[in-house]
Amino acid sequence: MHVYSIPLRSRFREIDVREGVLLEGAAGWAEFSPFKEYDDTEAAAWWRAAREAADVGWPEPVRDRVPVNATVPAVEPEQVAGVLARFPGCSTAKVKVGAPDQTSAQDEERLRAVRDVLGPGGAIRIDANGSWDVDTATTLLPRYDRAAGGLEYAEQPCRDVEELAAVRRRVPVPIAADESIRRAGDPMRVARLEAADIAVLKVQPLGGVRACLRIAEDIGLPVVVSSALETSVGIAAGIALAAALPDLPYACGLATVSLLSRDVVADPLVAIDGALPVRRPAPAPAALRANAAGEETRAWWNLRIARIV
Ligand SMILES: [Mg+2]
Repeated sequence: MHVYSIPLRSRFREIDVREGVLLEGAAGWAEFSPFKEYDDTEAAAWWRAAREAADVGWPEPVRDRVPVNATVPAVEPEQVAGVLARFPGCSTAKVKVGAPDQTSAQDEERLRAVRDVLGPGGAIRIDANGSWDVDTATTLLPRYDRAAGGLEYAEQPCRDVEELAAVRRRVPVPIAADESIRRAGDPMRVARLEAADIAVLKVQPLGGVRACLRIAEDIGLPVVVSSALETSVGIAAGIALAAALPDLPYACGLATVSLLSRDVVADPLVAIDGALPVRRPAPAPAALRANAAGEETRAWWNLRIARIV
């Protein structure tokens, strides 16, 4: 078992350093990296995903490449071109909006800048991470749709499933559910309440590739596979899910290892011509050593695992 600690290139979801555990089983390498504030109950699903990767492996792929999107954090408009240049060949961009320290005018300017760089053929989606109430979402989504020159979809505009359902009935922009699936006791409520047009699935929080394939089948919505900000070892599990889905109509949010300052493999899973290859790189011993966490962090993760297994 290797505990890693890798600084992020820039602060993302309130963290500066990504930590987690890498372990090797009969089927290959696995990553266990629930965010530190998640409790043991929530982390147990992440552990099931790691055990599947290490002990069982993943279903056969039905494709050999997975189209991926660029991610644009809440940056200034003049930084947009530089951010998008880190995702060569990606014609889809996911733009973070609704950050507490930014105005809607700043979000709109960023969306216009993304459209300028991508051109008319690009696809722009936004992620508000549940930051709006129904009225705010109803007001802002048509404005953001105009600023972006058309939105592919809006991810988690509000926090609750009921709110998503209300927004979806009021605005024509398609709605994607993320937190409403991966942090909900019952991911199927999204389908029952007709609260979304698209389901965002993440392998670790939902308990593994097979668990996600079952959700995809039951929920009856097109799926976008996204990462939980993993190293290439964890990203490989997301790729395995995206590669095994019968249909994959949208670019996936798996091009995220570039958000980390380093990786644990010699051949990181970075996008080539807008897609990730379907493969499973193993950690390089030198990279494991270079990214090894300190003693205190190792002890913390050992305790966390001891509590949930
Ligand atoms: Mg999201």
